[in-house]
Amino acid sequence: MSGIIKIENVTKIFGPHPTSVLEKIQAGASKSDILNETGHTVGVYDVSFEVNRGEIFVIMGLSGSGKSTLIRCLNLLNQPTEGRILIDGEDIVRYSGKELQRFRQNKVAMVFQHFGILTHRTVEENVVYGLEVKGIPKEERKQTARETLATVGLEGWEEKMPGELSGGMLQRVGLARALANDPDILLMDEPFSALDPLIRREMQQELLDIQSKLKKTIVFITHDINEAFKLGDRVAVMKDGQVIQTGTPDEILNEPADPYIEDFVKDIDRSKVLKAVQVMSKSLAAVSLSEGVQ
Ligand code: ADP
Repeated sequence: MSGIIKIENVTKIFGPHPTSVLEKIQAGASKSDILNETGHTVGVYDVSFEVNRGEIFVIMGLSGSGKSTLIRCLNLLNQPTEGRILIDGEDIVRYSGKELQRFRQNKVAMVFQHFGILTHRTVEENVVYGLEVKGIPKEERKQTARETLATVGLEGWEEKMPGELSGGMLQRVGLARALANDPDILLMDEPFSALDPLIRREMQQELLDIQSKLKKTIVFITHDINEAFKLGDRVAVMKDGQVIQTGTPDEILNEPADPYIEDFVKDIDRSKVLKAVQVMSKSLAAVSLSEGVQ
């Protein structure tokens, strides 16, 4: 598997003239020193990792650890203060104007926690709208919207208004809007956090099912470790604006690199969260059936 996204030493500082505080950080000033002395907030600091093509890469961490700041750097909703973000080998940090617009329309799509849909348009119009902005011909828009809605389980819901839909259904619309442009990379910022637990589990499974068909590269943010381990092929754990461990759920569970992570994983029920365990038990069941073993 090859790295489709390479994040190299990315730092994002909020406030005027952000590069003016880089030296202070390099000299060892803490985030709170910087906030007190200059009023700048360090969103993420010196983050590096790669995301492989076709994997679900989860960024996990507590609130305020820098997850949203980082994912927003991946489509330049946040402009990194320093560092490079290579996508298919090209540094996107220098993108602006038409090049940035093309990148956002063709390469990446974002799914937000609060669905990001237009409340005064029908389900289908919501999906068509994104395609219209991109300049897709009218006949093709409708066809693509219908196909994408079917992919996310919304066949027959095309004419409904968002106000008639539950949270789970609204997030399916959000997902359809993002998928309709056929992006290589799907960025998902706490997409299921606003849903109640039952619907949340249903949507997690829906995402895994969609992913098994479409094989997108997905960067998924969550503060929920169970969700991270259930969905992630690999997981990056963030703390205070930095990534403190990256690995498969199995690696993080078995070899936590930091007492902070040890604390996080100590109460995890491995049999429930690890995808590898689930896949293994499914394939063992298949072997048993094919061999006639009960
Ligand atoms: P998370 O997504 O893990 O909850 P965030 O990335 O939202 O964390 O926040 C990381 C830090 O960056 C926090 O201290 C937050 O207050 C700060 N931050 C995020 N966005 C902005 C912004 N637009 N302006 C100033 N500070 C911000």
